[in-house]
Amino acid sequence: MNIKNNSHLNDTQLINGFWYNEYANLQYSDVKAIKVIQNKLFLEHFNYVINNSPFYKNLYSSIGLDIDEIKTIDDIIKLPFTKKNDINNDFICVDQEAIVDLSLTSGTSGVPTIIPLTSKDLARLAFNEEIAFKIAGVTSSDTMLICAAIDKCFMAGIAYFLGGVKLNARMVRAGSNDSAQSWEMINFTDATVIVGVPSLIYRIGQYALKNGNDPAKSKVRKLIAIGEPIRNKDLNLIPVAAQLEKMWNAKIFSTYASSEIATTFCECEQQQGGHVRPELNVVEIVDGNGNNVEDGNVGEVVTTPLGVTGMPLIRFKTGDVSFIIKEKCECGRKTKRLGPILGRKNQMLKYKGTTIFPESIISILEGEPRFHSGYVEAVKNNDGTDRVILYASLSDNDVNEDKEPDWIREKLRAKIRVAPEVKIISQNHANNKIYQFDKKRKRQTFFDKR
Ligand SMILES: [Zn+2]
Repeated sequence: MNIKNNSHLNDTQLINGFWYNEYANLQYSDVKAIKVIQNKLFLEHFNYVINNSPFYKNLYSSIGLDIDEIKTIDDIIKLPFTKKNDINNDFICVDQEAIVDLSLTSGTSGVPTIIPLTSKDLARLAFNEEIAFKIAGVTSSDTMLICAAIDKCFMAGIAYFLGGVKLNARMVRAGSNDSAQSWEMINFTDATVIVGVPSLIYRIGQYALKNGNDPAKSKVRKLIAIGEPIRNKDLNLIPVAAQLEKMWNAKIFSTYASSEIATTFCECEQQQGGHVRPELNVVEIVDGNGNNVEDGNVGEVVTTPLGVTGMPLIRFKTGDVSFIIKEKCECGRKTKRLGPILGRKNQMLKYKGTTIFPESIISILEGEPRFHSGYVEAVKNNDGTDRVILYASLSDNDVNEDKEPDWIREKLRAKIRVAPEVKIISQNHANNKIYQFDKKRKRQTFFDKR
C-alpha cells in the first residue's frame, strides 16, 4: 500500500482527511469497540511500514523477527523500540514527489531531524488537532490566537493552524516571540482562545498588566497550554498554571504532542489529563527494562503514531515520563487519559534516595510571591549520586545573596521530601540564563552537567 495508490483521492478529500472523520466519535464507543478499530488500524499501519520502510525492513530482518507473529495489536510488545537518534532517511516511505512539507524537529539534543509529510499526513494532523481542540471545548465560534511558530519548519504551528481551520474557527497567527504584539492582536481580533507555552501566555498577561490593562477583561476564556506541563502528579494545577487561570479569568487545558508523535493528547472540560487517541496512536508506558507497566504506574511514554505515511514510526520512545489514568473520565469519553509529563527520563535526578525531576523543583516555587525565577543544575558526585543545586532569584532583588532564606527549602521538603542546595542569584542572572537560547521556543530551567 504505497501513498501513490491514494492518487484517486482529490485534493479536497486529502485536506479534509475524510477517511479519519469516521473515527471522530470513536472516543465515545465502548472499550471493546475501540480496541477492534485500533487493532485494525495498527495492522494496516504495520503492514504499510514493513512494505515501505527500508529502516524497519532491515531492523526486523536483522533481529530475525517473524512478521507472521504479529497477528494483533497485543503483539506490539514483540517489536523493538525506536529512539530519537535512530531516525534517518531510511525511515522515509514515499517518493520525493509525494512529500509536500519538510518539518524539522526542535533538536533539543543535537542536530534537528527532517520529518517529511505527505498531503495525507497533513490531513491527518488537521483531523488530530481539530478533535483535540473540540475535546477542550473550542468551537467554530472561537477566535484562536496561535502563539506558536508556523514558520522555521516547525510542525506544531501548522498543525494548530490546519486543525483550527478544519474546525472552522478563526485563526490569528501571532507567532511565539512578541508579547506586546500578541496582546495587541488579542484586543484587535477579540481572541477567545490562546494556544501557547504557559510561560509565554504569562508574559503576555504581564505585559498587559504593566501597561495598565487587565487580561481578565479580555475576551479570552480558554488557554491551551503547549510544551510545558501544567499539572503535578495529583492532577492539580502547578502554581504558575493556577495563576494563569486567575490572570486571564480563563480555563487552562494541557495538550501534549511532539513532531515525532504526530498526535495531540488534549484535556477535556474536566481538565484531568489528556485523552489518548486510539485511532491515531498506540500509547504504551514502559519501565527501565522496556516492559509495559500497569495503568497508573509511572514510566516512559512510548508511542506508535498510526496512519502516518511519510515517515512512520513504530514504538517510538519519547523520553518523556508519565502514566496512564485508567479511571473513567466524567466527560463520557471512554478513552484512557495520559497524565501530566513528570519530566524527561534522562533528566531524572537521584537525590538522597529519592527520584525527582528538575521541573518539579521549579514548578513548586513558581506562584510563590517571594520567588522570581530560577534554574536547576545537576553535577555528578564522586560516589555516583547527583548533586543538585537550585539557583533562585527572589522578588525582592535586594536580598543579601549570601543568605539563603529558609522558606525555599521548607517549601520543597513539604512537597518532594528533599531540598537541594540553594544559591540566591539576581533576577538578571536568572533571566539571562533561562532565556539565553533565543532560537528555542521554550525557556530552559535545567542544566545537566552530569
Ligand atoms: Zn474527559
